[in-house]
Amino acid sequence: MVTAIVGANWGDEGKGKLTDMLAEESDIIVRFQGGSNAGHTIVNEYGKFALHILPSGVFYRHTTSVIGNGVALNIPDLFREINGIVERGVPMPKMKVSDRAQIVMPYHILFDEYEEERLAGKSFGSTKSGIAPFFSDKFAKVGIQVSELFDEELLREKLESVCVQKNILLEHLYHKPLLKVDELMDTLREYRKMVEPYVCDVSAYLYEAQKQGRRILLEGQLGSLKDPDHGIFPMVTSSSTLAGYGAVGAGLPPYEIKRIVAVVKAYSSAVGAGEFVSEIFGDEAEELRRRGGDGGEYGATTGRPRRMGWFDAVASRYGCRVQGATEAALTVLDVLGYLDEIPVCVGYEIDGRVTRDFPTTASLKKAKPVYEILPGWRSDIRGITEYDELPENCRRYIEFVEKELEVPVKMVSNGPARHEIIKR
Ligand code: GDP
Repeated sequence: MVTAIVGANWGDEGKGKLTDMLAEESDIIVRFQGGSNAGHTIVNEYGKFALHILPSGVFYRHTTSVIGNGVALNIPDLFREINGIVERGVPMPKMKVSDRAQIVMPYHILFDEYEEERLAGKSFGSTKSGIAPFFSDKFAKVGIQVSELFDEELLREKLESVCVQKNILLEHLYHKPLLKVDELMDTLREYRKMVEPYVCDVSAYLYEAQKQGRRILLEGQLGSLKDPDHGIFPMVTSSSTLAGYGAVGAGLPPYEIKRIVAVVKAYSSAVGAGEFVSEIFGDEAEELRRRGGDGGEYGATTGRPRRMGWFDAVASRYGCRVQGATEAALTVLDVLGYLDEIPVCVGYEIDGRVTRDFPTTASLKKAKPVYEILPGWRSDIRGITEYDELPENCRRYIEFVEKELEVPVKMVSNGPARHEIIKR
């Protein structure tokens, strides 16, 4: 049985918390896309953690954490993260790293920085983790696979060819120091030492695990609106954020992904530039930002203040649909308890016409939000464990959201901690 847990919005929906929770009833947790560019925040008995590359199930003794072939693997980041949690008392996680995962090279990170610098004000707001240059190389077929770390001759040949091309850009476009093959070989030898004990044919491992009836959880990073195909192009990430990609990025049959939990935020937040129809500004935004998440809405990787907005039903319904969500989990609902009235964006007005369908970016640029105002519940709902005990207006909000999403809301999260969840 394979479950996927994915974001329906811009990311930062609280997937980390939900994954940590669902991991309790899973055997294997797999990261299938993205890299160490975004962060998940998890609060549990060991403390508060920001994970970037480790699957959120690493805190349990009974789970195996897997880095699938679809991940942009930053090996030093992975080991820094493992050491970081072990130092804080978490048992050494059982890890597997796909032999088909490709490696984020130091030059990917440099190129990310140099390109942001070159684009200056027109940049994509990259986290400068090397993700876009990494995926460019992967699809240009000049990336380096984990399996290739074990063949020095091939590695050197590959690096020699890579350096010729990269050094032309470094010299003439960016005016930066050139790459040296010997230094890169040394780095890759270090990487090999770090990763060797964990290298695994992940697809075969998961095939066997499935035959034995083990429960597999696919953990997505970011959200639908950051998908390179279905998201708000070009303000997207470089690998698919959709559950469907879980089949590719982990090496599983697509029809085995039976349960797809889309995490939907009770309000909106986004980082970086890009279209955001229900965005709010000024004091109104500042108050929501300050009260949001667990200690405010600031990026887990960059610390940047997140852009804030009201719940966007148009974007979230679309976000659930492209995920193929079989259910939704509504998060951070407790945060809205201070409001008398809560606006919800139910339509986009584009050129004088109102639509409920999420458009492509050019139309999105022209879209103005159409709001419906729901009454607030003016109380703290943290600590409530039964749906029926929620204030009536809070239930009305959830039911309104559910109707708009066209997907059943089966879980409601009313606090950052692992067990602050109401099941319906
Ligand atoms: P992710 O990348 O989707 O895992 O999201 P982040 O971890 O970046 O952002 C979610 C933030 O909200 C974190 O600080 C969580 O601890 C926090 N959080 C998650 N669920 C809830 C919730 O139901 N209520 C509150 N107040 N905070 C939550």
